[in-house]
Parts: sequence; C-alpha cells; structure tokens
Amino acid sequence: MFGGGKELEESLTRTRRSFFGRIGELLTGGELDDSVWDDLEELLIKADVGVNTTVELVQAVRSQAAARGFTSPTQVEEALQSRLLSVLGAASDVPDPGEGLWVILVVGVNGSGKTTSIAKLGSLHQRRGRKVLLAAADTFRAAAADQLKVWATRLGTDVVAHQPGSDPGAVVYDALEAARARGVDTLIVDTAGRLHTQYNLMQELRKIHRVVKKQMEEAPHETVLVLDASTGQNALSQAEYFKEAVDVNGVFLAKLDGTAKGGIVFAIASELNIPIRYVGTGEGIDDIAEFDPERYVAGLFKDSSDN
Ligand code: GDP
Repeated sequence: MFGGGKELEESLTRTRRSFFGRIGELLTGGELDDSVWDDLEELLIKADVGVNTTVELVQAVRSQAAARGFTSPTQVEEALQSRLLSVLGAASDVPDPGEGLWVILVVGVNGSGKTTSIAKLGSLHQRRGRKVLLAAADTFRAAAADQLKVWATRLGTDVVAHQPGSDPGAVVYDALEAARARGVDTLIVDTAGRLHTQYNLMQELRKIHRVVKKQMEEAPHETVLVLDASTGQNALSQAEYFKEAVDVNGVFLAKLDGTAKGGIVFAIASELNIPIRYVGTGEGIDDIAEFDPERYVAGLFKDSSDN
C-alpha cells in the first residue's frame, strides 16, 4: 500500500482462506434452507464477527433473500458483502493532520504490538513529509523507552524520555514543549500498557490526557487504541476499559496478518462504535495499511491476485 509494506489483501489471507472465502461453498448445495443459514452463522462467529453482529447480519441477509427470491449463491454473497460494508460504514475516516502540530496518544496493553505500531505511524507520517517526535510516557516498564529508541533510530528521529519510574505527565509536558520548539509536525506518545484491569493504569492514562489537553486544547488529535487482532473477542473487553479511561477515537488493529480472526473489525465497529483506522500487516516498519472498508470487505472474499 505504501512503498514496500505488506498489502492489506495479503494480511487477510488466513481469514479469507479459513472463513469468508468459504462462504461460496456453503451456498452451492442448492436450496437456501435453514442449514445453510445456520452454517453461515457458525462460520461468521468462528471468524470472530461476534454473536450479536452475526445474528443481525444473517437475519438481514436472510430476509433480503426471501423478499427478493434469491436463487444464486452470488446474490447471497453480494448481499452479505454490502451488509458487512454498511457495518463498517463511515466508522473509518482517518483524520487528516493538515498544518501544525498533530498529537497522537497511543494506548493498549503490553504485547498488543503498541511499540511497533507507534513506529509504523511515525513512518507513515514521515512518508508524508512530516517531522516526527516520539514520547516515552510508559515510564513503568523500564525497557519501554529503550524499545522506542531502537525504532526511533531506524526512523532517524528523537525520543523524549525520562528515568524509569518518573512521572509520565512530566514526559508528556516536556515532549510537547520540545515538539513546539523543534518545529515538529507529529508527536506520537507511548503510554503504559500494564494489564487493563489495573485501576492505576486508567488513572495514569486520564492524567496524561489531561496534561496534553492543558497544554494544547485541541490535542490529542488522535487517541489510538492498539488491539491485537489475534486475541479476537478479548480485544473487545480491553477496548471497553480503555474507552472508559480516555476518549479513544480510533483503533489500530495489529497483527492482522497472523490471524484468521479478521472478522473482529465488524464486532469492533458495531459493538464498540470505534472506527478502525489502521491495520498492522506484518512486523516491518512499513507494514501498515490505512483502513479502507471497501478494500477490506473485498479482500475477505477474494485476493486481488487470485484468478
Ligand atoms: P508492545 O509490547 O505492545 O509494545 O508490543 P511490540 O510492539 O513489542 O510487539 C509485540 C510483538 O508483536 C513483536 O514481536 C512484534 O514484531 C509483533 N507485531 C507487532 N505488530 C505486528 C503486526 O502487525 N504483524 C505481525 N505479524 N507482528 C506484529
């Protein structure tokens, strides 16, 4: 999608092969009877679309099929695709940074792929000609700042970091000052990602959010929650916690390439109402795709390189 990075379609391979690409097989048996609809439901649930969202989708397609007298599998598949697309709907616009300092707060549990995703966002902004600065506001985990520095070196950018255990609010304060002083266009803030059940973590995120707001009223411009696609439905409960603490306005779905649970985007969009903005398509710095609902849904059913 962006020079060198892995393509979205490629990262959907597992989900496509295990689930969505098989829908056609369910429908080729002839009659659209109960068992076909049951099988479709089962397949969508296994792909992590989520029970509620699946039931709604299948009911909608089923009534459409009855009302219009669908006879061919293609008609059912097309109806399903258009329903899937409407679930994702407008819930996916990536905000345009434009002129001036753009602040991105990145939250998520440890291991979700947060640090890698920060580097990918940095690279994405650099490729747009923006000057990027990183802030290591995860002061709880000693290795966090070091890990961020490794990526920063690759990006050829700086990290604002304090000693482990210091006040993350102070890191953010300094980072904003530095960003302004150095004419930075995009400041990306890493935050602690200890277990989401910890009350302290949520308090800390709220505080970081307040510190940012106090210095720059319109910031953070993006609060991105990194979710590991391979955790499937667990990602939803994590998202609920983070949503309560900070105003999450976008999801970065990491590790999509390593899972067949790509149906999770529909559960995120319909049950959490948080737009999916970015997708992680591999371990490399350029393995990021901006979320495009049409391309995503099409990629679930057919690889553009398939014949
Ligand atoms: P953090 O603890 O949340 O900061 O997670 P890291 O950024 O350290 O990532 C954890 C692991 O996930 C590392 O091995 C990364 O290479 C890997 N990872 C992160 N994003 C992706 C992705 O989009 N695809 C794949 N395949 N691996 C990823």
